[in-house]
Amino acid sequence: MKKALFPGTFDPITLGHTEIIERGLQLFDEIIIGVGVNSAKQTMFSLEQRILWIQEYFLNQSHKVKVLPFEGLTVEFAKKHGIQFLLRGLRSAPDFEYEKHIFLLNKHLDEKIETIFLVSDTQYIGISSTLVREIIKYHGKLEGLVPLNILNSIYRTLYPPK
Ligand code: ADP
Repeated sequence: MKKALFPGTFDPITLGHTEIIERGLQLFDEIIIGVGVNSAKQTMFSLEQRILWIQEYFLNQSHKVKVLPFEGLTVEFAKKHGIQFLLRGLRSAPDFEYEKHIFLLNKHLDEKIETIFLVSDTQYIGISSTLVREIIKYHGKLEGLVPLNILNSIYRTLYPPK
């Protein structure tokens, strides 16, 4: 059974993330989406909200996609859950530079855990959670950036029915 961990903050999850997860499902039997608690990072959405949206989106694949909160070292979390692979998405050269250091650090901590990188499809390369949060702040359009369930949920909050 090949299990992969896709760790991130997912504040909120975007179509860039879901594309990587969906492609990852062709390589792994199960993907655990580790939603970072990250006490140092102030998030726009609560941990519960971020988890709920992801669970809702992957409802039909809940036997293959699990969503768990996580804190602490990624490799320790992976070991605790019997996970052999880390899945990461790459958009650009800066992503690669950043990811390379994390990869080397994780290898140093546990050489048995392997990292698999998938390069983002061109249409998702420009999407980031940071950009999505900026758009939300200024009430911009979220179509094509986040899954529909999240878009609807955010729009309901921004524009409540009168
Ligand atoms: P963090 O920055 O806290 O690690 P993110 O939630 O931003 O977490 O990202 C988690 C993973 O998803 C990372 O591997 C990141 O490179 C990847 N990722 C983010 N946005 C995209 C995108 N648009 N396309 C492909 N991968 C992405």
